[in-house]
Amino acid sequence: MAFEGLSERLQSALQKLRGKGKVNEADVKAAMREVRLALLEADVNFKVVKEFVSKVSERAVGQEVLKSLTPGQQVIKVVNEELTQLMGGSQAKLSLTSKPSVIMMVGLQGAGKTTTAGKLAHYLRKQNKQPLLVAGDVYRPAAIRQLEVLGEQIDIPVFSMGDQENPVTIAEKGIAHGKEEGHDVVIVDTAGRLHIDETMMDELKAIRQEVSPDEVLLVVDAMTGQDAVNVAENFNREMALTGVVLTKLDGDTRGGAALSVRAVTDCPVKFAGMGEKVDALEPFHPERMASRILG
Ligand code: GDP
Repeated sequence: MAFEGLSERLQSALQKLRGKGKVNEADVKAAMREVRLALLEADVNFKVVKEFVSKVSERAVGQEVLKSLTPGQQVIKVVNEELTQLMGGSQAKLSLTSKPSVIMMVGLQGAGKTTTAGKLAHYLRKQNKQPLLVAGDVYRPAAIRQLEVLGEQIDIPVFSMGDQENPVTIAEKGIAHGKEEGHDVVIVDTAGRLHIDETMMDELKAIRQEVSPDEVLLVVDAMTGQDAVNVAENFNREMALTGVVLTKLDGDTRGGAALSVRAVTDCPVKFAGMGEKVDALEPFHPERMASRILG
């Protein structure tokens, strides 16, 4: 389950405060020490942890909290609110304004980009959209076929030109095709590589330049913790992302990426992948995630 380890640690750190009639500064300090350790162990970025703990501590030792009737509960409420803020405060929605709207999917190999493109198409159709998928991952063997099979399963058309064409051409032709066929959203899958390299970035930038997408979504594997955050920082610097999709949150017991990526990159997390199935994609709700973590 998502965040299991982190959740247990945080809950036990705060447990001592929960039922207490009186709470003093030392109690808060002791709890915050444990919260700090729990977050570090969850692979949350250390600067993020430091700021988080200092914000919560400052608010928690305030008179209105300690002198309240349920001080323990109030401290936990502060932790909940600050966790929510850390993850972006409120849900960040897709902004799809062009006709057709274009969503460009970027990310490293294995992060779940192709799967997520399919999931997103499925999700958007449930919102009464008519999506088209464009198979632009020309480097990973089988990525095009994978998208075609996925498209068949969910009954969403896939535009492809094989793996010999230039990805910029594929994206342009795919979008033109989408327009002709009356699609209102075109989701372009792009090539990922094992590591960030200049050739990949240049190619992605060229696609971005040519097709001016409404959304550029980076897909990262949440289970890779701070690596995912570093990848997001890099991509955001090069590409000005509009959002992040955290995949494999279903297997992520630690939560380090989920808790740090927004604070480190200032780029909103828009969706969470919660499993391999095509309907296992959820809009990312910071407040629900915080409540899930605190139980
Ligand atoms: P790509 O190389 O980035 O296009 O990666 P794929 O879309 O092929 O995904 C790589 C693997 O991750 C596949 O086995 C997917 O089923 C799996 N995957 C993708 N998203 C999720 C998710 O949210 N949860 C789980 N458990 N697996 C996922």
